[in-house]
This record gives sequence, C-alpha cells and structure tokens, in this order.
Amino acid sequence: MPTLQGAFIEHIHALNTLRDAERIDSVVEVRTSAELAAVDALIIPGGESTSMALIAERRGLLGALREFARTKPTWGTCAGLILLADKVTHAKQGGQKLLEVLPVTVSRNQFGRQIDSFTATLDSPCLGPDAAPFEYVFIRAPAIVSVDSPEVEPLVRLPAGLGQTEASEPGLLVAVRYRNILGTSFHPELTSDTRWHRYFVHMARAEPTQPGAE
Ligand code: GLN
Repeated sequence: MPTLQGAFIEHIHALNTLRDAERIDSVVEVRTSAELAAVDALIIPGGESTSMALIAERRGLLGALREFARTKPTWGTCAGLILLADKVTHAKQGGQKLLEVLPVTVSRNQFGRQIDSFTATLDSPCLGPDAAPFEYVFIRAPAIVSVDSPEVEPLVRLPAGLGQTEASEPGLLVAVRYRNILGTSFHPELTSDTRWHRYFVHMARAEPTQPGAE
C-alpha cells in the first residue's frame, strides 16, 4: 500500500492477522513506482487526500498509481476512496488531484465537523449471506453521493437521514465495488474485525467471499 501519508500501519496489521489463513505471501509498504510494480494488489489508506495526492505527485507516483488502479485489485479507504474517484465535491480550495479511475462522485467531509467521528453498526450482506453486522468507523469521512456508471455495485448504505438533509432519499453509500476496485469511506482497519480485509483478498483473487460459497 502507498505509505506516503495516512493510516497504513493498521492495514498492515489487519493483513498480517490474515496472512496464514488466507495464504498471503507478504504485506509490503509502497513508496516508489518500482515497489508498486512488484505488488499484486494495493490498499490506499485513509489520511488526507489532498496531501496524499501532492506527495504522490512530487514523487512521480501519481501516473503509476492511476495505471495500477485501472487494472489491478485496488482498495481505497476514506481518503483513499477520494483519491480513486472520478469527481469530488467540497474539495480543498484550489482543487485536488484525483486518480479518476472509479466512476463515482465523492463528497469530502460529508458528515461535517460536529460529528467528525462516529460509528454505525450495519448489516453487510456482501460479507456473506449470514454475516453478522459490521461496526463501521467514520473519521471526517467522505460519502459516495453519485454513482456514474451502471457497473458500480453498491455494497453498503447508511440509514437514510444520516449525513443528509433530505431523509427521504436512500441512505448515503459508503462502500462500492467497480471491476477491480473497492471503495469504502470507513476505516475497517481500526477495528479487530478483519472481514473487509478478507473480502478484498478474495476479491483480488476472484474467489468467493465465503469459503464454499459460489
Ligand atoms: N477528510 C479526509 C480527506 O478529505 C479523509 C479522512 C480520512 O481518511 N479519515 O482527505
């Protein structure tokens, strides 16, 4: 995962927890395009999307990240989701660079300052047919406010009204999948529940989420 900025240690820890059971060869940090070229799958962590893009650009990594995310398994969490998106609303003044590989519009800091952080326990059928609810951690989180391709699969929505002015609309999307890309606005690495990391490992290998499931 690109370890230029952001919350990567916890992702490394979560993947290492799964290493034996999921036969993960190794978990490495990515800081250069040579390191990126050597990995099979990538997690772009949370942090601050504007700084991440700036640092990646300074290191000449932005183009390589874009090329990687176009075809190889890539998961963006929180700021990582913003970086992957085609469009962002409430961008930092002066704008911010995006990889533009995930056809969604993401609203930065959707939940405002007064609820900078919150948790929500939600049903998550994508984690398996009988999956227990997952406890989602949101930290100055973005939300996916528009899906701009029929190929984007909605995975998890918040209850209607949370982070919205119009409670009549469907709840905000906080997890989507598009081809080889997973985009989530929460921080699964900050819980001890590794089911989203497992989901991504299986997605990267094109394996079913539940062993034995079709
Ligand atoms: N608000 C941050 C941003 O705009 C994302 C927050 C996070 O990754 N926890 O980049």
